[in-house]
Amino acid sequence: MKNVLITGASRGIGAACAKKFAEKGFRVLANYHASPERAKALCASLQNLGQEAIAFGADVSDSCQVRQMFESIENRFGGVDILINNAGIAQQKLFTDITEQDWDRMFGVNIKGMYLCCRQALPYMIHKKSGSIVNLSSMWGITGASCEVHYSASKAAVIGFTRALAKEVGPSGIRVNCVAPGAVDTDMNATLTEEDLALLREETPLGAIGKPEEIAESVFFLATDLSRFTTGQILSPNGGLVI
Ligand code: NAP
Repeated sequence: MKNVLITGASRGIGAACAKKFAEKGFRVLANYHASPERAKALCASLQNLGQEAIAFGADVSDSCQVRQMFESIENRFGGVDILINNAGIAQQKLFTDITEQDWDRMFGVNIKGMYLCCRQALPYMIHKKSGSIVNLSSMWGITGASCEVHYSASKAAVIGFTRALAKEVGPSGIRVNCVAPGAVDTDMNATLTEEDLALLREETPLGAIGKPEEIAESVFFLATDLSRFTTGQILSPNGGLVI
């Protein structure tokens, strides 16, 4: 059974990915940070369906916590075959209001977290000469969003990270790809008003806001052998808002 570690699996897109992989027979290692109850409830519900899912707490921006999480995974299950770097935070602020602390937190979770998890996951993958990594960016990492400069910059960095790492570890049999969603109906967009959502739908050629399950399909495709000749690519399920 292949082990898939999904960071930020307690809610939203990460939880939808956990359900998708568990349903397809993978052992899901579901990382959480501030929502242990939600992660544990999700794993319990998957276990009740006869699927494999275990919750692991760690703040992905903290190297000690990430190392401990991987040690615990390696002791129990060998290693991580597929890594989904999904954990992320967002914030809307005028550029002039972004504090240094806001900036560091944004990059700490969205980029350093990805670096730390890849650093821990890769030795096992390199040893096995196989593995797959999918990183979550955003359409704003492609086009840039007003009042989200730090978020957009961190998500653009995810794209550069993906392309560079894909070149480096491809010869070791490891693929690295990226999913850059458009607006998706999760807690991350809970501050958007009905009016904002209606405007987004109107501007989107497919006339809809994405569902977490729809993003999980793209993640699953890039993470598994369905895309075994694909690496270094950015797939952007965004309803046509960014083409
Ligand atoms: P969400 O509903 O806000 O969930 C965020 C997840 O990240 C939660 O499970 C949270 O876990 C986890 N997380 C946050 N900080 C963490 C940390 N320091 N360590 C470990 N986990 C942490 O967000 P989402 O919409 O599902 O977004 C998932 C990913 O997709 C993010 O990378 C986001 O940038 C990207 N994305 C989202 C959208 C969208 O419209 N929703 C669009 C484009 C890209 P806890 O609650 O346990 O802390």
